[in-house]
Amino acid sequence: MSGWVQFGPITVIEGSGGARFPFCNSLLIGGDPPVLIDPGAGPAVLVPLAATVGVVLNTHYHFDHISGNHLFPRARLLINEVEAGDFRTRSGLAARLGITAADGPEGAGRWLDAVRQPGERPPAPTPHARHEWWLSTGRVDGTYPYGREFGLGATAVVMVHTPGHTAGFCCPYFPREGLVYAGDYDLTSFGPWYAGADGDPAAMEASARRLAELDATHFVTGHQEGVLSRAEFLARLEDYLSVIRRRDERYLALVREGRDFAAIVAAGVLYPARYHNDPWVAMWERLTAAKHLARLKAAGEEIPPIPPRLASPQ
Ligand SMILES: [Zn+2]
Repeated sequence: MSGWVQFGPITVIEGSGGARFPFCNSLLIGGDPPVLIDPGAGPAVLVPLAATVGVVLNTHYHFDHISGNHLFPRARLLINEVEAGDFRTRSGLAARLGITAADGPEGAGRWLDAVRQPGERPPAPTPHARHEWWLSTGRVDGTYPYGREFGLGATAVVMVHTPGHTAGFCCPYFPREGLVYAGDYDLTSFGPWYAGADGDPAAMEASARRLAELDATHFVTGHQEGVLSRAEFLARLEDYLSVIRRRDERYLALVREGRDFAAIVAAGVLYPARYHNDPWVAMWERLTAAKHLARLKAAGEEIPPIPPRLASPQ
């Protein structure tokens, strides 16, 4: 995608850096007042909108979709009802992200202490220590309903509950414009991301297939690609979802080599091992290994012991 794309009153705003993580494509809905969905496009494009946007919607709690909330202090901030309570407490977000499962409640406390501190952070693969975590969470002015059409700016939306990426994740569907914001069902070559404690690969696959059944002509991905026609979205969906089974196969091969849990994690099925010194990359690698080993166990495979907190992270 290059530049901004218009669908009636809806503008697809291209995220900075080609909308690669930690940025995303945002949606601006014209109306009185204008509404912004997922302010993760980056300050350069979002700051000029701060004076006019009256409502900000978050599809879920992840950094790359909420980092700009704090740029809109006068807007009403709405998030889904599953994640709203944890968004207010912030410690609940630590549990959803996987910090509590990986490092215990003490680790969650250390994370909150770290992100509370103002200032720039050294570059890192993940935004684990970024102060925007503190600035852009803690406040929720309300929730929106799942699965029911309501007026939004100059149009109407249905927030389709599509759990799997996170438990509360949803995709804004605009029936009048035939448009779906598919968000993190993003069809990137990386494949589906369900590494957080509240992520679930089977649910993510089922949700993606339900998304494809919506009566829409265009799908907007949260990252990189941006606007896809219905035909493009459907053609690439199976490839994207097949990454889940390819990961199953790689984990199964490691199990059959007789590796223990730590050695399976070290193989880096999700992220190359050179990134594992980032605390969140390491955390998500462990959580993802635990999820896939549980799938293999359910399919009748014998698997090595999984650390208890990772085996039931929520
Ligand atoms: Zn996300």
